[in-house]
Amino acid sequence: MAGEHIQILEAASVLGGSLDGAGDAARGYSLRGGRMLTTDNYECTWDLFKTIPSLHNAGKSVYEETVEFNEQHVAHSMARLVNRHRAKLPVASMGFSMHDRVELLKLTQTSEADLGASRITDCLSPGFFETPFWFMWSTTFAFQPWHSAVEFKRYLLRFMLEFSRIETLAGVKRTIYNQYDSLVAPLQAWLVSQGVRIVTDCVVTDLAHTGGPGEFRVTGIHCRRQGSNEVIDVTEGDLVFLQNGSMTDASSIGSMTAPPPQRTKADCNSWSVWERLAAGRPEFGRPAVFNSCIAQSYWDSFTVTLLDTAFFDQMIEFSGNQPGTGGLVTFKDSNWMMSIVIAAQPHFRNQPADVQVFWGYALFPDRIGDYVAKPMADCNGEEILRELCGHLRFNLETVARANCIPCRMPYLTSMFMPRIAGDRPLPVPAGSKNLGLISQFVEIPEDVVFTVEYSVRAAQMAVYQLIGITRAVPPVSQHAHTLHAQFDALVKSFQ
Ligand SMILES: Cc1cc2nc3c(=O)[nH]c(=O)nc-3n(C[C@H](O)[C@H](O)[C@H](O)COP(=O)(O)OP(=O)(O)OC[C@H]3O[C@@H](n4cnc5c(N)ncnc54)[C@H](O)[C@@H]3O)c2cc1C
Repeated sequence: MAGEHIQILEAASVLGGSLDGAGDAARGYSLRGGRMLTTDNYECTWDLFKTIPSLHNAGKSVYEETVEFNEQHVAHSMARLVNRHRAKLPVASMGFSMHDRVELLKLTQTSEADLGASRITDCLSPGFFETPFWFMWSTTFAFQPWHSAVEFKRYLLRFMLEFSRIETLAGVKRTIYNQYDSLVAPLQAWLVSQGVRIVTDCVVTDLAHTGGPGEFRVTGIHCRRQGSNEVIDVTEGDLVFLQNGSMTDASSIGSMTAPPPQRTKADCNSWSVWERLAAGRPEFGRPAVFNSCIAQSYWDSFTVTLLDTAFFDQMIEFSGNQPGTGGLVTFKDSNWMMSIVIAAQPHFRNQPADVQVFWGYALFPDRIGDYVAKPMADCNGEEILRELCGHLRFNLETVARANCIPCRMPYLTSMFMPRIAGDRPLPVPAGSKNLGLISQFVEIPEDVVFTVEYSVRAAQMAVYQLIGITRAVPPVSQHAHTLHAQFDALVKSFQ
């Protein structure tokens, strides 16, 4: 399809959604998230980025430059879990009891229909949640004990290759810079070069539609642009692809002196459109399953910009990892369940050589800290740094020239909420003639949410089906069915 026939309407002033990343040395850098990718999975993502030229390496695709970069920066974490005494914990053993192994096996053998809306805690006993495996797996993939057992099972199967190397994160691949610079910017440049029209600061507020029973056809897109409401006509032959739910909706940014404002559903763009579509139409799913409990889906992250090397020098000495080789360091006894990631530098394309940037997050931002007597959600950047230095026993002078920008994301793990079949619509809902849904909130067999891959796969499925493209969407790799992956996981579970 010619690019000039495609128009993207985006609520934000930049493209990329959750894959954001921006700033400079003076104001500080900020990104909501840092991504771990793999090349053993992520079939659709790499299928796409094999065709997108790099902006930094002439003649190479984004995929090629990423593979090359990871050959030079191999992940081998040497400080994956740190305890309350600042000791690096031995993590070669997963710490399972025989009871844990039996329950895990049972979970992986139970059908999704039988698991239904159960939570992970419904399937695994309390002891499991104290194992090194749980601390590593849950902080790598952002699971909470109350999340969906179905999704947890899918992760165990989809990422079975990671099971035997979870303690070193050896299977994790990173982009050269943050994902805005390394994935979004080249993709956007390519789209623009093809003639695609991009309209930013444009909020889609509703879809006009027609159709009798079993038929749904969009006839117009209602949007709000520069303060005024507009309707874009959708005519015969047009197709509409809607983002029906965003994990970073209503997220907010704080500063060294202010915590992020606590936004709620009233501040969201994505949910209301989906809710209106789904009202009285079961084929459009049930958004309330995912967006009804901020307390169970929010977490806070933070980005730190450093104007001297004191913090990195001490981290390298403590962890034994050079930047870009360690992956997550999790303070497993911290009340906030805090983790940090020291990526290869520079992490931003415009980052000066004498500036360093790292990212961190916490799974329990509602709890009082160990070194700051406040929930993380109420903390400014200075207080978050104080808590971090407490866990590391670093002198506060190591962050004297740091700028820590906190970020609150109320719906971050909303797609992990317990669900049953039908809670998520198909990428092309039954009866839809011209509307596809592209997000983390659609049903795709076998694949796992909270990944870039899921969004790319959803988009490929919706676009291919509605346009009638006969090329197959790359299938989900079946690692869990290979003898060597099963054998390695089994051996690991007994270590
Ligand atoms: C902290 C964090 C860590 C992560 N870690 C990983 C990881 O390690 N590995 C991994 O693979 N993935 C990870 N992810 C997940 C991954 O980033 C997301 O799954 C993916 O980026 C989602 O892409 P998306 O385009 O579907 O949705 P989003 O990124 O949510 O983008 C949606 C876009 O649609 C726009 N929009 C929504 N509604 C409207 C509307 N009504 N009108 C106009 N525009 C609208 C939004 O403004 C936004 O730009 C992480 C995400 C975060 C936030």
